Amino acid sequence: MSIKDNLHTIKKTISENVTLVAVSKTKPNSDLVEAYEAGQRIFGENKVQEMTQKWEDLPKDIEWHMIGHVQTNKVKYMAEYVHLIHGVDSFKLLKEINKQAKKYDRIIPCLLQIHIAKEDTKFGLDETELFEILASDDFKALQHIEVAGLMGMATFTDNDAQVRSEFQGLKNLFDTAKSKLSTIKILSMGMSGDYKIAMEEGSTMVRIGSSIFGSR
Ligand SMILES: *Cc1c(COP(=O)(O)O)cnc(C)c1O
Repeated sequence: MSIKDNLHTIKKTISENVTLVAVSKTKPNSDLVEAYEAGQRIFGENKVQEMTQKWEDLPKDIEWHMIGHVQTNKVKYMAEYVHLIHGVDSFKLLKEINKQAKKYDRIIPCLLQIHIAKEDTKFGLDETELFEILASDDFKALQHIEVAGLMGMATFTDNDAQVRSEFQGLKNLFDTAKSKLSTIKILSMGMSGDYKIAMEEGSTMVRIGSSIFGSR
């Protein structure tokens, strides 16, 4: 199947109110162009340098989403153009994004990444850290970022019940956070292997790579 066919097949399974981020990390520009020509405008990357190179090379109406772990010293390279940063997992990083966004007179939308998986290898805030950040005066003073929602990754497992329960936990947290902060509207959860479960549990944004572009 071509990228175009894969994209059409995936889109048919995605609810109308759910945004599809096509995860193009490691893939060559020609693959992104194929998806672009099939109508896709939102792409997700997990390395700042690679994303910036692609931003320079490809059409300017693409929305670039940073979905990977971000080091504070890399924020400056994407501050001019990044559309949404999914993996914000510390206040320190949020402060740096704010500082770099200010230079471009922008407000950069961010998602706070929540640790929901049983695995201890994945990044993210826990519930206490999340609400501490949202309640702090230091956070309220940041004028060049907007917390637009939450992001999480479930455990990599065949156990659907476990994945579902992790997504349910994140959805509950999302609802609570939303009631405290009106800018919160996006719940980014679900990848190729688990996006159907994620949508059933309230995801508003899915990040799909291998089912569109093939394995990496
Ligand atoms: C790579 C990646 C994806 C996409 O994974 P697939 O299994 O290829 O769909 C989604 N989210 C994040 C954070 C990723 O790093």
